[in-house]
Amino acid sequence: MSTYRIGVLKGDDIGLEIVPVAVQVVQAAVKKYPEVVIDWIDLPVGMPSYAGSGETLPQKTLDTLHDLDGWILGPIGHMAYPKNDPKAVNPHPILRRQFDLVSNIRPARSYPTVPSLHQDVDLVIVRENNEGFQPDRNMFMGKAEFMPNPDMALSLRVITRRNSEFVARTAFELAARRDHKKKVTAIHKNTVFMLGCGLFVDACSNVAKEYPGITFETRVVDTFAMNMVMKPQNFDVVVTTNMFGDILSDEAAGLVGGLGMAPGLCVGPAYVMAQATHGSAPDIAGKNIANPYAMIMSTQMMLLWLAENKQDTAAVQAAHDIEAGMATVLSQMQRVTPDLGGTATTEEMGAAVCQALGDI
Ligand code: NAD
Repeated sequence: MSTYRIGVLKGDDIGLEIVPVAVQVVQAAVKKYPEVVIDWIDLPVGMPSYAGSGETLPQKTLDTLHDLDGWILGPIGHMAYPKNDPKAVNPHPILRRQFDLVSNIRPARSYPTVPSLHQDVDLVIVRENNEGFQPDRNMFMGKAEFMPNPDMALSLRVITRRNSEFVARTAFELAARRDHKKKVTAIHKNTVFMLGCGLFVDACSNVAKEYPGITFETRVVDTFAMNMVMKPQNFDVVVTTNMFGDILSDEAAGLVGGLGMAPGLCVGPAYVMAQATHGSAPDIAGKNIANPYAMIMSTQMMLLWLAENKQDTAAVQAAHDIEAGMATVLSQMQRVTPDLGGTATTEEMGAAVCQALGDI
């Protein structure tokens, strides 16, 4: 028997709707495999936590995460948090940084029946998570953004060999495992950022030498952005720095049906966190119409990641079952949410996946 201890941090707005659905789907998947047991541990975060304890990220939540196999972080609506209250922090950069979640794996996959700009897309963007231009996490102390005077702002970009090699290794391992083109494309702008992007490309090139069976190529970010819009089918695994990856992964989601179709997994040397690419979508919160695909598939990616690391064939199979169940629901398109052209609620789409799992 294998037991997984998984934290559930619902987040804000639509997180309160899509995270419980993701948990239900995983529970439905593992039901067939009695040897796989998941303990779900609810932990406070975000505005619901702030309403109760005055903190958006309580210390108790952080302490508990250290003892878990992984956790789900629902979307965070930090733009609506009270300003000037040091206890109303944005939890996700802190979690990514404190737990050393260096790589953010963001797949973009088209389904034949889902309205999208392209078909036959199956690419994964691996984005560095904790440095680059993000001033809320790229410093040991202080913020890497400041204003020497009211008419001048400076933002510092941080690139390290350690994190660049880590994301490169994540990308090559993924490319080796995927039954696809066996190709890694490193995205940079070393024509301008000669030192920062130069170091990133150098680190990726060094890691590439460890994977002779994987094709390695580099592209300048602006040309790549155009190439990906025109012919996303040319790419397999794409690895890049934080800000480029942030932008390119939303662009990739736009090619295959929008943000509701954009899952993500944050991984580091010791921890893993399922986190969809999209935000908390306050414009549709409380209506039970958010697309649960991204949250379900983020959680599926976490289960697969943990199960493969433990060489737990039953849990690996449960994760593959979720993928198949979701594919069935999307092939029928009868119980999908409005962003995909359907009329189903979030809960109904989740229930459809659970039902499809029963037929596998
Ligand atoms: P957003 O991603 O929340 O929403 C952008 C658009 O996509 C909205 O029209 C929304 O309705 C739609 N959308 C997003 N997820 C969807 C889903 N699952 N199903 C259907 N439609 C979906 O971005 P935003 O509106 O710019 O930001 C809202 C809040 O989320 C802000 O506080 C922002 O800071 C935060 N945010 C958090 C994260 C994160 O937690 N990783 C990421 C981005 C934004």
